[in-house]
This record gives sequence, C-alpha cells and structure tokens, in this order.
Amino acid sequence: MQNRSAYPLDKALENLRQSREGWSANLSLVEEGVVTTVLNGIAKIDGLPGVSCEELVQFRDDLFGIAFNIDPGEVGIVLLGDYSRLRTGERASRTGRVTDVPVGDALIGRVIDPLGQPLDELGPVKATKRWPIERPAPPIMDRAPVTVPLQTGIEVIDAIVPVGRGQRELILGDRQTGKTSVALSAMINQRGNEVLCIYCAIGQKAASVAKAVAVLRERGAMEHSIVMVTEGNDPPGLQYIAPYAATTIAEYFMQQGRDVLIVYDDLTNHARAYRELSLLLKRPPGREAFPGDVFYIHSRLLERATHLSRELGGGSLTALPIIETEAQNIAAYIPTNLISITDGQLYLSPTLFELGTLPAVEIGKSVSRVGGKAQLAAYRAVTGSLKLAYAQFEELENFARFGTRLDDASRNIIDHGQRIRECFKQDEFDVLSLPEQLLILLALTEGSFERIGLDGMREAMAAVRKSAVSLPKDLVARILSGKALDDVDRRVMLETAKRALEHLGKAHE
Ligand code: ATP
Ligand code: MG
Repeated sequence: MQNRSAYPLDKALENLRQSREGWSANLSLVEEGVVTTVLNGIAKIDGLPGVSCEELVQFRDDLFGIAFNIDPGEVGIVLLGDYSRLRTGERASRTGRVTDVPVGDALIGRVIDPLGQPLDELGPVKATKRWPIERPAPPIMDRAPVTVPLQTGIEVIDAIVPVGRGQRELILGDRQTGKTSVALSAMINQRGNEVLCIYCAIGQKAASVAKAVAVLRERGAMEHSIVMVTEGNDPPGLQYIAPYAATTIAEYFMQQGRDVLIVYDDLTNHARAYRELSLLLKRPPGREAFPGDVFYIHSRLLERATHLSRELGGGSLTALPIIETEAQNIAAYIPTNLISITDGQLYLSPTLFELGTLPAVEIGKSVSRVGGKAQLAAYRAVTGSLKLAYAQFEELENFARFGTRLDDASRNIIDHGQRIRECFKQDEFDVLSLPEQLLILLALTEGSFERIGLDGMREAMAAVRKSAVSLPKDLVARILSGKALDDVDRRVMLETAKRALEHLGKAHE
C-alpha cells in the first residue's frame, strides 16, 4: 500500500515543480487577470496577484486603469477612458509602471486630456519625457519665501489681496459668480512676462471648457498656456487624476527655474469624483458621504505649489484652486478643508454680482496671508488707507440702509467708499497693467475723483487709464522693477491723472 501511494506522490510533486517553473516563466513576461465586473468607471479583476497599489493596468483597445483597491482575491481598478465596450471575462494585464504624463515645451499651447492625449487639432503631442502624476511635494528645506508678486491684472486683487508667486490662493463662491473669469483674467495678464499658465478643467461642461479655450486664444494667452480638460461625462477616474497630472506638468517647468501659474477649476467636482470612486469601491463613507481621506487628496495636491530655493533654480508654482459654495456657506466641509490648506481666499459674493459690482470680490471675506510681503512697494504708497476706508464704509453702508440721517463725516466716508467700489469695477478679461492700476489708485486716494458723480466714474477711470501711456518711460521702468514711489514720482503721476480728468471735463463743456 505504502509503495503504491508513494509513487503517485513523487510524480505529483514533479508535475507541480514543472508547472511552477512554467508559471514563473510566464509571470516574468506578463501577469494577467480577468474582468469580473464593470460598473460606472470601476472594474473588478480576478487575478493580478502581484499588482501594486496605483499601478497602471491595461485592457484591450488602449484602455488603462489604476489599481486602487487591492483585496485578497480581487483588485478594484479605476478606469481612465471610454469603458463602454469593456465586458466581463476580458483580460487585464499589469504594466509594471505608474500613471504618467508627457512633460516639456511641446505641451505649450496645447489642449490635452490627463493622459497627455491631444484634444485639439494640432496633431500628436511630441514630448519625449514622461513623469509620474503623483510626486512628493518639495521638502521645507527646498522652499524659499514668497517674495515676487503674481500680478492678476484685477485691480481689487492686486491692490488689496495680492497674490505672490508660489502662493496658494483659493477662489470660492456660489455658482455663476465669476470664479472662472477671475482665474482666466489672471492667466491672460501673464501675456508678455515669464509666467507659464496651466488651466485644469475638472468635470466641467463641454461648453464652459470651449468658452475658456476660446477666451484664452482670442486674448493671446494660449501662447503661454496649457489646458488640461476633463468633462462632466468623463469617467470619474480621469477627473480624479487630472489635477495631479496637470501639477506634474507644472512641476517640470518649475524645476527648470520657471514661474508657473496653475488653475484647478474646480476642486468641488474633484472631491465629488473621488467620493463617487470611493463609494463604488465600497470604502467607508464619512461626513457628507466623502471618504475619510478627502482632506488628504487636496492637501497633497496643494502642498506641491511652492517657491523653490535659489539653489534649485528659484522656480515657482502658484496655485489658484476654485471651489463652489452652496448658498454662500463657506463653512461647509470641502470649502473649510481647502481654506485651511491654502494661504488665503478670494470670496466672490453673489450679492455683489447681482448689484453689478464686478468682479464680485468681497473684500471683507477675502484675505491673502503671504502675498502682502510680495506686493510691489509702489502699491503700498497708494493703498495704505484703502482697506480700512472700505471696511468703515461697508459698516456704515449697512447702517445707512435703514434711512438714518448721517453727519457730514459719515457722509464723506460713504462717498469715498462708493468711489472705491466704482474704481474696483472692471470688465470681464479687461486686465489692467501696473502703471494703469497705480494711476487710478493714486487719483482715488488723493481725491482727484471727488468732483465726479458716481455715474461719471467709469468714463473718468477710462481717461485716467489711457493717460498711463504718457508717463515718463524711466518712471514706468522704476515701477515695474519694484521700486517704491518717491514724492516726485507721485507728483508726476498725480499731475498726469489730473490732466486727463481736466481734459475730460473740458470735452464735456
Ligand atoms: P460656474 O459656477 O458656472 O463655474 P463661475 O463662478 O465660474 O460660474 P463665470 O463663468 O466666470 O462664473 O462667470 C459667470 C458669468 O458672469 C459669465 O456669463 C461671465 O461672462 C459673467 N462675468 C464674470 N465676470 C464678469 C465681469 N467682470 N464683468 C461682466 N461679466 C462678468
Ligand atoms: Mg466656472
């Protein structure tokens, strides 16, 4: 009996050894699994025992996915493309690499998707390098303080809540309050200077994206911009990776010593896409059904924005993330998370928007925690008292609404405040140069607009603005180089503004 049983055992062991050899030889070539379910942008795979977390997995027809959940016996894959033809029973294979994007100068002027595929009519993207989309944020020792301003061309922002290169400034507000418009203006204002711009549309309507690209093209901003697009009907996986991919492209330029501005429009959609993925993958839901690590997905993204030290080339990455609030509730879960991660916020108020005060930046709720130090010295001489005067005005304005009779001092504060408000009105995408902004601010603080009625302010500002071309060249050069204005400079500028206003007055007579 013993002999009879020993023989098949030996044989079985030998068979097993041989088949294992064959199996391991196969493994080194490619490791495959089988799709068991496909649902809403998620595929479950049986097999792929050696797959690593975040590894790229390939299906047929160039469809890729990222390994997200690795459970015993089952791998949850987040799909990154059109999965409508993916069926159960199909094969999935490991690629041995993580998701990456093309980087380099070839991307400038292009509209691409998060995997670097072109979405415009300009042919294939001819980049030679690819970088992983998830990269660690630079350590503290590699970072330098924010010292150079990032001019947005929007007067109220540059004067009151200035943004510096390397800063993260949140743009938040209800829907249709001009959030995208503020970000696009900042991109347009980088024409002719060295800041490269990336606009990352996350889960947007196709029409909004088309409009944004058209605006950038029309205003000559595509020459220094890259647009990365995911639309609302793209798989949530693609929407989820978009900001990381866009940041990698930005980091490539930052490491070349360049200054980069990146706009994430918007992270509300990003958080929603991540929530959708997490729920489909059966991860435990937390507050508002968001997974517990929703804070982390945004913090690790925004940590990558910085100003690199001089030894590392001194490049910078400025981030303008956008968040949509509901019913003006800036204390909701995702907005408060983002407020705590960023270095300040620009709050766009629907009330101001309805009143026609555009851009609808509410000064009282907007702040820039690091940009003040980077603001050009010339501003400080002209904006010193503005914020306080405006805050006083807002308080009194509420009070005066009840029909209270006001004394002369209060009346003056209200008049001045209303004039400040008029001065900060700006047409969409009509960005103001530095000398134009300073002329208007100086005329405002020195009371040159005092004799002009509120309804004449628009015309008066246009006249003052136009006169900026007649400023002496050396003065303009000094302003642009960041020098403070001395008394002579101020006098020259004030005279220029006054002359423009007198001219306007004569034209009306
Ligand atoms: P959404 O919530 O849909 O993304 P949004 O907050 O990004 O909207 P925008 O799309 O930028 O808002 O602007 C909303 C509307 O307001 C647009 O029609 C835009 O043309 C108009 N708008 C924005 N800023 C100005 C401005 N300064 N002057 C005139 N119109 C403006
Ligand atoms: Mg928008």
